[in-house]
Amino acid sequence: MNKLILFDVDRTLVLSSKAHHKAFSEAFKKAYGVNATIEIINHHGMTEQQIIIEVLKKSGLSEQEIKSKIKECMKVMVDSFNKSIESEKIIPLDGVQELLKELEKNNFLMGLVTGNLEDIARGKLKKAGINHYFKIGGFGSDDINRVNLVKLAIKRAEENFTFESNKNIFLIGDAPQDIKAGKEAGVKAIGITTGIYSEKELKEAGADYTIASLKDKKRILEIISN
Ligand SMILES: [Mg+2]
Repeated sequence: MNKLILFDVDRTLVLSSKAHHKAFSEAFKKAYGVNATIEIINHHGMTEQQIIIEVLKKSGLSEQEIKSKIKECMKVMVDSFNKSIESEKIIPLDGVQELLKELEKNNFLMGLVTGNLEDIARGKLKKAGINHYFKIGGFGSDDINRVNLVKLAIKRAEENFTFESNKNIFLIGDAPQDIKAGKEAGVKAIGITTGIYSEKELKEAGADYTIASLKDKKRILEIISN
């Protein structure tokens, strides 16, 4: 395994999930007594802990109050998510299944870098039938800062597989934050426009490559095989 391909989750591999959004609202209510949804901020590309802090600040809480219960909040989120994901159908975005199959066949090591809490990311991908492809990851439950999540995923790849990082890591994501984190961690960043951001915005964030969707298997293989 001489190449590592890191994927964001929401709007890169799957669409966002209702159970996930509901989990935030339930946790805001149970842990802080606040009625709020994550729609009051632009949460795309943010890590879970950033979202919790920003939504609650907007609802009038101090950062200190928020941080004192953030662990409890994340625990309630996972419990809530696990309950409601059962009845939700999650389908991978177009081309995802085919691409992952092809990458596995070609012996690429695949991982995740997502702001989602690990249990939530894994739960969504299990439902979508693609969780088994991702051997390692950096998750929103590990850290608030996305750059650290990229570094952590790489460290886990090196610790658990015969993988040595040497300009052979690619990160695929739909938000400028994915791209910026990848570049700051020293990996090549591929922006895909299946989220709310345009090719221009992803390029401005520093994307080395941009593509319309993961359906373009040929182009992705071309990029990561170089
Ligand atoms: Mg995303």
